Amino acid sequence: MGADSAPEGKTPAAVTAPQKKRRRSRFPTATSRLLTLALVLAAVGGMFWALLRLMGGGPVLAAASPTPSPSPRPTPTAAPTASPKPTPVLPDVDTASWELRLVRYEYPVGEAYAPPELEEIGNGERMDSRVAPKMLQLLQDARAAGYEQTYPCSGYRSYETQRIIYQRHIDQYMAEGLTEEEAHAKTRLAVNYPGSSEHQYGLSADILEYVGQPMEPYIGGSGLMLWLEQHCAEYGFTIRYPDGKTDITGVEYEPWHLRYVGEEAAEYMMKHDLCLEEFLELYEDRSVAD
Ligand SMILES: [Zn+2]
Repeated sequence: MGADSAPEGKTPAAVTAPQKKRRRSRFPTATSRLLTLALVLAAVGGMFWALLRLMGGGPVLAAASPTPSPSPRPTPTAAPTASPKPTPVLPDVDTASWELRLVRYEYPVGEAYAPPELEEIGNGERMDSRVAPKMLQLLQDARAAGYEQTYPCSGYRSYETQRIIYQRHIDQYMAEGLTEEEAHAKTRLAVNYPGSSEHQYGLSADILEYVGQPMEPYIGGSGLMLWLEQHCAEYGFTIRYPDGKTDITGVEYEPWHLRYVGEEAAEYMMKHDLCLEEFLELYEDRSVAD
């Protein structure tokens, strides 16, 4: 007990002293803690403010810099320099001429159309007499270039011939199980609808390297097909259904199908990688602009 009381007696002094000490020490700790907290808050706040300013400063600076420097002015002057690129000088051709007539499903020549005059191009095939000499020259030069067997496997086709070819494809696909609608859709990717074939128009011919060469797109990019791609424009012809343009032409890639459009147009189309639809569109844009 005494032991208990003694400590009890001592306790107040002993306890208060350390308590006071503790209190004293607590006070500074609390204040220092508060101070530290304040400092930390100030530091964090300062950093946050600095960060905000930095973050905010970027756009402000960026937005501020164009304002003093007259950058909006150079931008319009830069636009005209860019516009001549997509609109180089177009060849001075008449897009309403017979050479540039667009013939496709939406623009058929009609059942009754036949070229004014036909001329032989070899292998019993014929073309419009206005373009046949160009084709004959092309064939001769292709043979001289090493593709000795080069021949036209298809030239002018009458409406009736086209109808028969088209129907043959339909029948074949339907025999394979396709519906009539599906058969038409598939056929039209490879064979133009009767009345809308360039072969009926007389300005197109299919050229192959040798008899029996498979008419598959994979033969593009090599042999005669490559030669045609590189040289046909010199004779006024274009690859009418180029690779990667099916969405526009509506026909699958046919490296063998040449269409006469005239030398100027053909050269331009080759240089700018345009199919006939894209080429004609340039003139529509121009007429709208004018
Ligand atoms: Zn063809």
